[in-house]
Amino acid sequence: MEQSDLECNNVTDCNFEEEAAGKKVIEFKPPLYRQRYYFVKNLVNQHKPKKVADLGCGDTSLIWLLKFHSCIELLVGVDIDEDKLQWKGSKLSPFMGDFLSPRDLNLTITLYHGSAVEKDSRLVGFDLITCIELIEHLDSGDLARFPKVVFGYLSPAMVVISTPNSEFNPLFPTVTLRDSDHKFEWSRMQFQTWALDVANLYNYSVEFTGVGEPPAGAEEVGYCTQIGIFRKNCTKSTTLCQSEQHGELTYKAVFTAIYPSLQQKRFRQLVLTNEVFREVQSMKRTFVQSLKPQDEGEFGDKSKDTGLSRACFKLLGPVFTEAEKNNIEKSPEPFCVGNKFYVPLERLFAYPKVNRLCDNIEVLKALLAGSVGLNSDGSAVKVDLLDEEESY
Ligand code: SAM
Repeated sequence: MEQSDLECNNVTDCNFEEEAAGKKVIEFKPPLYRQRYYFVKNLVNQHKPKKVADLGCGDTSLIWLLKFHSCIELLVGVDIDEDKLQWKGSKLSPFMGDFLSPRDLNLTITLYHGSAVEKDSRLVGFDLITCIELIEHLDSGDLARFPKVVFGYLSPAMVVISTPNSEFNPLFPTVTLRDSDHKFEWSRMQFQTWALDVANLYNYSVEFTGVGEPPAGAEEVGYCTQIGIFRKNCTKSTTLCQSEQHGELTYKAVFTAIYPSLQQKRFRQLVLTNEVFREVQSMKRTFVQSLKPQDEGEFGDKSKDTGLSRACFKLLGPVFTEAEKNNIEKSPEPFCVGNKFYVPLERLFAYPKVNRLCDNIEVLKALLAGSVGLNSDGSAVKVDLLDEEESY
């Protein structure tokens, strides 16, 4: 379900310069904000974090893109502007497709109204915290508090901070700050000096990169957006610190969505029942078909207490690997008694899609009970050999 159409694997090659009304303007393709989002998405693909928070998440566009990553189980957005959060919240709710095809792992999305420079213990110990175009909105007091909260208190395994590179600004038509709310815009030297100090103080390493390539001939200005990727150096002592940091709940939750997943019994049961039903119907059809050429319409007489020939249930090549095929073929075969068709649970359990939904046959039996007919000792699924319309 990942949004692969939105991926841009080599974003830095996509920018170009364009003539407009005789003036040269820089235009980024994809737009710069998307390049920043793709950058984060690529990091998530690489590192597979489970808990991700986006501080200064704005209209939650990045959160929306990240929700398609199956590795993420907790996705949190924080912004000081409550209106932005509420406006886009509903886009983050599960939709029909999420119920029809539940995720493998749980996903909870929560949006908080709060400030990135206030402590809240619900964000402690995340795998990744992103601050995309946030720090330049902080005044000097808040900027001083920011590392204490994010690195010292929240202490995530990885932090990504992006901010404008002021050296790029002369390439824009106006050379002032890029946004009226920006409190500053830093050169690469200023950002790197700040970032290295923070990294040293809180025991992180930092790597510098960016998005938004300069046009040919102006390479010396660097990326339009500069990015620091901070990785926590030690884990043991910080883990200890984290467990002591609890109880501070300063943020106000304004939106929460819990996605359906196969970790939740009712969804696992639903998906399993559908899968079993599909396989049983397919085996039954194959069986009925196999009887027709010999004695069309009189399968009732043919269906004595009998195992079915292997040829009957030939497994289609591309669907299964050789190992899966062997596994299925050596499991007990479906059989027929009178007008009933039986598929042993052991057979069903050999099918990969069924197998991945339950740990063992007892679990398979328990999950099917109540929604699928079983034989008297509960070892096989039992269905009518003839569906209503087939019996005419
Ligand atoms: N990260 C988003 C993106 O890249 O699309 C939004 C970036 S926008 C330029 C900056 C965001 O930071 C705004 O939504 C603003 O409300 C938020 N912000 C400013 N100060 C903040 C603070 N102290 N805590 C949390 N959010 C803050």
